[in-house]
Amino acid sequence: MKGIPIQSKLPNLQVSIFAVMTRLAEETKAINLSQGFPDFNCNPRLIDLVFHYIKTGRNQYAPMPGILPLREAISRKIAGLYGALYDPQSEITITAGATEALYAAITSVVQSGDEVIIFEPFYDAYPPVVKYSGGVPRFIRLNPPDFRIPWQKVKNIISKKTKLIIINSPHNPTGAILEKEDLEKLAEIVDGTSIFIVSDEVYEHIVFDNKKHLSLAMHPALQRRTFVISSFGKTYHTTGWKVGYCAAPELLSHEFRKIHQFITFAVNTPVQWAYADILNKKELYLQLPKFYQKKRDLFRKAMLASNFDLLPCRGTYFQVADYYKISRESDLEFVKKLATKHGVAAIPLSPFYDEEPEQQLIRFCFAKQDATLIKAGERLCQI
Ligand code: PMP
Ligand code: GLN
Repeated sequence: MKGIPIQSKLPNLQVSIFAVMTRLAEETKAINLSQGFPDFNCNPRLIDLVFHYIKTGRNQYAPMPGILPLREAISRKIAGLYGALYDPQSEITITAGATEALYAAITSVVQSGDEVIIFEPFYDAYPPVVKYSGGVPRFIRLNPPDFRIPWQKVKNIISKKTKLIIINSPHNPTGAILEKEDLEKLAEIVDGTSIFIVSDEVYEHIVFDNKKHLSLAMHPALQRRTFVISSFGKTYHTTGWKVGYCAAPELLSHEFRKIHQFITFAVNTPVQWAYADILNKKELYLQLPKFYQKKRDLFRKAMLASNFDLLPCRGTYFQVADYYKISRESDLEFVKKLATKHGVAAIPLSPFYDEEPEQQLIRFCFAKQDATLIKAGERLCQI
């Protein structure tokens, strides 16, 4: 049954490219380097902890902002890594993945007609949520190979209507990261305005080459206007558990929670208890850069003999590749062929743009077992 017609609030919105490509990978039995998730299991200790908390009866609703021990552990982690203080009672909220946190943060500040600065390529969740709230995205393009933010353009586009800037570092899909000068420039630009910032830092623990992740929480002038968002899915190889959080000053968190309480009210209880325990084992997130850097390097080595040009990758578990030496067809056509004819699924970059750019870039996820990466490399080197 089709049901009666509904007037769409987002008429042009397509099914997410991640769902499309993973389905194609399954249908074609291609090696799936498209959607960003590991093909290996999480730490067995974490599984034991979830079992333990289920067996010992932590099976009812958690408090609306999340269980306090988890919020306290997050607060300690942020203080330790970034020197920033957040009150676990009033300034940290546990969410159903970073996706829910992004939705709650954006909708809590954006009102009809407000302008929101979004850098493209962008993570696909940002523009629909802005539009859904009546906001108007203002896109600023980041250019390969480094995808640095052109701050003068940001300055030029800002007006009285600008309500929010969405930042993402380490950046999906490009692997770019913010430098200290970027934080300084951003602080200078928003100084004296009441512009808010959503800082999507879900890959905060995946930064390479001895660089440190720079959280917006580190800069007091930015911290006061920023929703810092992260996700345990990336850090603990548990993308399917969908638990994340938002750290934001009290006034921001207060509004944020008004939205959160009527999206999910509260998040999976035993999983929160397990994360609260494991978060205190600092070595697990501190060793993550080394773990993923080895995978990045292995994949790049496996691709050396290929006709793809690999762009720099400074963080995240994504590698962008230029296929201009192989074909000039659209990236969507190219990834379809790649999956069906060559047995490797990737993500085209065009869905991360408002207007399709003239380029031949695709994204590979290297959060995979070494054998998977080597096998994919062999197939890609044949093209
Ligand atoms: N932001 C970015 C940049 C992402 O890559 C992702 C995807 N995992 C998310 C947010 C969503 O995270 P979660 O799976 O925790 O909802
Ligand atoms: N963040 C993941 C990626 O970039 C996908 C998440 C999703 O499927 N929505 O591949």
